Amino acid sequence: MPRLAVLGHPVGHSRSPAMHSAALAALEMDGWTYEAIEVAPDAFEGRVRAMPGEGFVGANVTVPHKGAALSVADELSETAREVGAANTLSFEGEEIRADNTDAQGLLNALPDSPRDRRALVLGAGGAARAVVWALVREGAAVEVWNRTELRSRNLCEELGGRPVDEPNQADYELIVNSTAVGLGGEDPFEELPLSATGFVPGQVVVDMVYGDERTKLLTAAESAGAAVVDGIEVLVQQGALSFEIWTDREPPLDVMRAAARQDLSR
Ligand code: NAP
Repeated sequence: MPRLAVLGHPVGHSRSPAMHSAALAALEMDGWTYEAIEVAPDAFEGRVRAMPGEGFVGANVTVPHKGAALSVADELSETAREVGAANTLSFEGEEIRADNTDAQGLLNALPDSPRDRRALVLGAGGAARAVVWALVREGAAVEVWNRTELRSRNLCEELGGRPVDEPNQADYELIVNSTAVGLGGEDPFEELPLSATGFVPGQVVVDMVYGDERTKLLTAAESAGAAVVDGIEVLVQQGALSFEIWTDREPPLDVMRAAARQDLSR
């Protein structure tokens, strides 16, 4: 029986099990399962190496293991290598392959191509790396702001884009919050260089942070007439790409989206 999982620490809040289980059921892939596995950083490598022998064909990897997932792999996709993080592992025999679907997932969640668009990315952590890599590669003019300036400078040197200290919010056609601001109830308009009234119609605003309710950032952007993309849509798109890698089946996007959105109790 083929098994799939998400590995994280913590992992209890993850919507991936609901989303992937719904997809497996919709495609009548009887016997396939998707589970959440809590694993601490010092146990990660051993846990992953045991998985092929336990019937696993693949796994998603979330915080804080996306870097460790690269080191444990025998083979890396070009995206995983260049972004420097992996969120998808596949097992073939004893061989472990690492992919990154966060980058393409972000692009698939956008309403249109970011080519030649002025884009502001907030953050310089793991999520921001995938976002910057994807947008630069698609031909957007990317500027990166981060609370700790040194990190945004280093990120741009490595992946492209230009660091910015005081971004002018109205100048951008695309704004992506890939900081963790909002996750713990922080006010984005205090912690980020954005104002609630500074969004303009026609902008696309993405918030990678998601919870049970629309974030403050997206509520303000939407009121100003911007098009908004929430973190669940990005999660669904990256999950769909992982699902396709493991199963070679076309992912049922609407089923996955509905399951991720309904799973509000977790
Ligand atoms: P990370 O590597 O820990 O990076 C955290 C980032 O947030 C850093 O840039 C950090 O800035 C910034 N930050 C944290 N607190 C801040 C504050 N009070 N004010 C300003 N900046 C602050 O985390 P990550 O893996 O990149 O994840 C970031 C967020 O994206 C998380 O909320 C995560 O859940 C979400 N995410 C969503 C998806 C999805 O599919 N929707 C996928 C991946 C991640 P410093 O460098 O200054 O510390």
